[in-house]
Amino acid sequence: MDPLRLVVALVALVLVGGFAFLAANGERQVDAGSAVGFVSDDVAAASTRAEVDGGPAIAYTAVGVDPLPGGVLSGGDAEADGDNAQPVFPDPADKVRLTDKQWRDRLSAAAYHVLRRSGTERPFSSPLDGVKEPGWFTCAGCGNLLFETKTKYDSGTGWPSFWAPVAARHVVEEEESGLDTRIEVRCARCDGHLGHVFQDGPREETGLRYCMNGVAMAFTAK
Ligand SMILES: [Zn+2]
Repeated sequence: MDPLRLVVALVALVLVGGFAFLAANGERQVDAGSAVGFVSDDVAAASTRAEVDGGPAIAYTAVGVDPLPGGVLSGGDAEADGDNAQPVFPDPADKVRLTDKQWRDRLSAAAYHVLRRSGTERPFSSPLDGVKEPGWFTCAGCGNLLFETKTKYDSGTGWPSFWAPVAARHVVEEEESGLDTRIEVRCARCDGHLGHVFQDGPREETGLRYCMNGVAMAFTAK
């Protein structure tokens, strides 16, 4: 074998060896990935929780429409957990459908006007507008968790204002038909009207302003 062929053969050997190493390494990474995996008993538990952006998971439970109004439903082991008690909320996917008469019977006249007739409360009329302490804002019609105080801010409008809901699936946002194209915000669980979302919220956050009717919500301090 002449020197040139020897060099070519050696280079070929090195290349083949290198590819073989890379291929084997790649397989190991795939194996490691599937070993970390998502196949465990945690899947069932995780499916009942939804992540709040950067926040704790929300624990859901199938509770039907009661109790009303809104409020945090105490979990079975909440007492035992003490400070680490995880509040339990109805799953927004667990829809509430009541007749108009049933809604009239359940809600105050003011809450009915807003939630079921898309009314608007007078500005500065809701005690929830001034709430600053940590807690949960739930739908006054069905208990669906809507907002937490950590995304609340003083918009100066006289209506409770937030820059984000707890999770997208907890509310429905839909463009209103009409001359002005406002985006209506409704409860994802009972379809009750909550307010509107505008694009003049705090720019350092989402830039959104969820302008809510306080009478359509219930507040529970943490
Ligand atoms: Zn609701």
